[in-house]
Amino acid sequence: MLLKDKVAVITGAASGIGKEIAFEYAKAGAKVVIADLSLEAAAATADEIVRTGGVAMGVAMNVTDEAQVDKGIADVVAAYGSVDVLISNAGIQIISPIVDLRLDDWKKLLAIHLDGAFLTTRACMRAMIKGGKGGAIIYMGSVHSHEASPLKAPYVAAKHGLLGLAKVVAKEGAKDNIRANVICPGFVRTPLVDKQIPEQAKTLGISEADVIKNVMLKDTVDGEFTTVQDVAQIAVFLAGFASNALTGQSITVSHGWHMQ
Ligand code: NAD
Repeated sequence: MLLKDKVAVITGAASGIGKEIAFEYAKAGAKVVIADLSLEAAAATADEIVRTGGVAMGVAMNVTDEAQVDKGIADVVAAYGSVDVLISNAGIQIISPIVDLRLDDWKKLLAIHLDGAFLTTRACMRAMIKGGKGGAIIYMGSVHSHEASPLKAPYVAAKHGLLGLAKVVAKEGAKDNIRANVICPGFVRTPLVDKQIPEQAKTLGISEADVIKNVMLKDTVDGEFTTVQDVAQIAVFLAGFASNALTGQSITVSHGWHMQ
């Protein structure tokens, strides 16, 4: 098993992409930590994994809360002995033209995506360095780490920011065998996307079907959504890749939307 006994912390893993990665990691032999806002939701996902034969625990973690992140990672080390993989995945979306965007909303989105990535990276890097076994840090970027769309200023800014953070972590982490990479998915049908379809339809004055066909999937090669399973496969590959040959990079999984 590719990830046998690796301890993997996944933020935002009670839903969507993070949840699927958690299940795939457990199947690959990892001990999985479901870190999410609500302990109840995190524990419920961990229980589901345990019922299918995996090893998992739930942790309450608001990734913007420094004390909660540090305590959460300390609890993981106490329970499982180390941290080998971090998937910094927790995220939200806010749809608004810049001229109507409230400063509070700008700050809220940046805090979850960027403060969250920094705080979890710092706590996990400290644990990885102490453990002496290296590790993999994987950021959930987006095609919006490379491309822009209207109505998504804070999201596009945050997702571009993750590329910069990953490159610095790759450089600082190399001497301790800590690698950092970014996964950049296209649109995936999760609660985050289902919520924005009617919001975009309203703001753009078009139907929900048009949002899907002519906004979200317009630049794919085949008009298809990316799936949680597609993203989870890349996450398994990156966590299992054992050398610094692959670090500081981003991998786009998007049905051809944005070819580099
Ligand atoms: P989702 O809404 O299904 O899941 C997001 C999870 O993050 C939820 O469980 C939520 O509780 C958690 N979360 C939110 N704020 C948090 C906080 N402060 N602390 C801890 N957890 C928090 O969304 P998803 O689509 O699975 O998105 C996961 C990641 O993938 C996000 O970073 C998103 O930007 C990224 N992404 C999604 C898509 C897509 O099309 N769905 C595409 C590219 C990138």
